[in-house]
Amino acid sequence: ARTIIGAVGDVSKIDTKLIDALPGVEQIIRILKPYKIVSRESHEQNTIIDISGVPLGGSTVQVIGGPCSVETQEQMDLSAKAVADAGCKLMRGGAFKPRTSPYSFQGVGVEGLSMFRNAASKYNLPIVTELMDVRMLDAFLENDVDVIQIGTRNMQNFDLIKKAAQLGRPILLKRGMSATVEEFLLAAEYCLNEGNDQVVLCERGIRTFEQSTRNILDLNSLALIKETSHLPIIADPSHAAGRYDLVTPLAIGALATGADGIIVEVHNKPDEALSDGKQSLTPESFADMMKQLKDMHILNGKA
Ligand code: PEP
Ligand code: MN
Repeated sequence: ARTIIGAVGDVSKIDTKLIDALPGVEQIIRILKPYKIVSRESHEQNTIIDISGVPLGGSTVQVIGGPCSVETQEQMDLSAKAVADAGCKLMRGGAFKPRTSPYSFQGVGVEGLSMFRNAASKYNLPIVTELMDVRMLDAFLENDVDVIQIGTRNMQNFDLIKKAAQLGRPILLKRGMSATVEEFLLAAEYCLNEGNDQVVLCERGIRTFEQSTRNILDLNSLALIKETSHLPIIADPSHAAGRYDLVTPLAIGALATGADGIIVEVHNKPDEALSDGKQSLTPESFADMMKQLKDMHILNGKA
């Protein structure tokens, strides 16, 4: 048993010799990385997030399934059933949608939070949903949102991140589509710096010169972050691929690389989905993906 005390802020003036002379000090390590509390140097063991009783991180592998957008109560009921039937313990769905075009469907709003909560509660599924505006935090609490998602477009909206983190609930922080690993980890550092270490990182694909798929799932960064940070990291093959037929192979790749889970879009009628239908799996193909992952024993947990 060791107690690790981290000093953050301007530590350049600290004379380590003075600290070294104190009783009980075994070792002083200067963390040279710009991010401190998220780094593995400050916390050796993998952090395990407790999502209303469901663990994420450590030796567990979780699959978060659900639609891109909350649309109707019926759609959410069908989605929750599909997610639970496939053996998943966590559900996703956006009531507030950060759409590229102001003319695209923007989400059903607050009402969507209660539709989501109702549907998920029937199957005992904790819910993950995106926060875009701090003024919605009360509605998130009223609907007992279990995990607050910060989307790719808000990864550097530090005020939003800080306010969300202050609630003390788990945060799902998606990597900015053009953010470096360092910027990504520094964004997570904002949460931990607010005293909230319940952060799940999410690699959701980045922009490159390649135009043939929506984004590129950056498995290099995923493997690197597993080494450099103690926080769990999951992958989002749906937004990385932008097309349903690549979701399962990318999910397999991410989990084989060491991801602590995946988040996958599922819709009962992808052709009629109000957002991201092209990349959404049907309940049947989602169940089929889960079966493949189970047969490959990559959902069994890690040693
Ligand atoms: C989403 O999860 O539906 C979403 C908008 O994701 P991202 O922020 O990664 O684009
Ligand atoms: Mn989506």
